Amino acid sequence: MARALRVWVDHRRCVGNSMCEALAPAVFRLNPNRQSEAFNPAGDSEEKVMEAAESCPVSAIFVENAQTPAASDCPSELAVHDRQFDA
Ligand code: SF4
Repeated sequence: MARALRVWVDHRRCVGNSMCEALAPAVFRLNPNRQSEAFNPAGDSEEKVMEAAESCPVSAIFVENAQTPAASDCPSELAVHDRQFDA
């Protein structure tokens, strides 16, 4: 079983270019303010999530092991999801 990930987008950085949505459309989508949201971290493979995070031009995507305490600066108003990957 794949590990669970904690994934979120820092809206102070996101410039809404949709790169993450194109690479992992079952995880990321733009909200009406053209800010990406990790609406379902388990929607795509960990590889796709990591590719999206590494492709973000402003490093706005954060990915952590959900089994460990949050290490990054995750603003409380942003959605944080802890899900288990199926594959
Ligand atoms: S790739 Fe980065 S800047 Fe572009 S929409 Fe996704 S989080 Fe925002």
